[in-house]
Amino acid sequence: MSKNPMESVIRAEGLGKTYAEGKMHTPVFDGLDLDVKPGETVAIVGASGAGKSTLLHLLGGLDIPTAGEVYVAGHRMSALSDTERGRLRNRSLGFVYQFHHLLPEFTALENVMMPVMLDEKSPVPGRRWVATSIATVCFATLASVRTGHWIFLWLALGLWLAGLLGMGVISYWSGRKKVVAARQRATEILEAVGLGHRVHHKPGELSGGERQRAAVARALVNNPACILGDEPTGNLDDKTAGTVFELMLALNRRYQTSLVLVTHDRSLARKLDRVLELREGRLHQLERSEV
Ligand code: ADP
Repeated sequence: MSKNPMESVIRAEGLGKTYAEGKMHTPVFDGLDLDVKPGETVAIVGASGAGKSTLLHLLGGLDIPTAGEVYVAGHRMSALSDTERGRLRNRSLGFVYQFHHLLPEFTALENVMMPVMLDEKSPVPGRRWVATSIATVCFATLASVRTGHWIFLWLALGLWLAGLLGMGVISYWSGRKKVVAARQRATEILEAVGLGHRVHHKPGELSGGERQRAAVARALVNNPACILGDEPTGNLDDKTAGTVFELMLALNRRYQTSLVLVTHDRSLARKLDRVLELREGRLHQLERSEV
């Protein structure tokens, strides 16, 4: 994740997308450019079907462009494997959709902890450890057969068992440490969105606005460089939508997290640094008076 002011958090260069199904081709955009700086807030508006959701999917690495490149925190998305792209997405981007997408069987706290739990690599050197074990046992068997002293094989097996036990202990403790850290971070961020008193409630026990605030907390928990929102307040009544929107702006100022929000609500869009209209496959900056 990058918060270097010189580096764009998200950059799209000459982006093109055409959906192809059989002989049917649907071009959505062609040669689209976008540059989002750290801490910047950008609204994307446009008619239904203009390609706003498609653009967010491409910026978030959830879909692949048919032309051009997307850079997230300086990384060229097309150069990454699926796993690397997933890890970058989890660390550098947060997503908030119109529907909260919280898992109903988990509490707000557990939902918000999830991206942290998914973030770190396993401390256990999996494949390398298995390869070393097999090589050691093979070598010890060979040495035992050659010398006639089976002590080599027993020693190797003993070492292997001790290693296995050691890794189990390390894995258990680091797992516990990770859970404690995730819980602490999730509690902090839930308090920041005003849900400190609702951490143990499941989504079904929260109001619409509270659920969306929990979704915002989940998007922010890994301290991402940018939040991508697809009509994040579109499901809420006007008053609650205004409150959640103001909360997102306050959090943007507090954590310097960039925001790229698709919204049809021009009065909300006007509150962001820039308003871009997606029209005829390109982004056009709107003047305040045009919004
Ligand atoms: P918006 O979010 O601005 O309403 P979308 O990004 O959802 O627009 O869609 C842009 C265009 O791409 C629309 O014409 C839509 O029909 C088309 N489209 C979206 N998804 C697909 C898909 N999976 N296959 C084919 N066409 C699609």
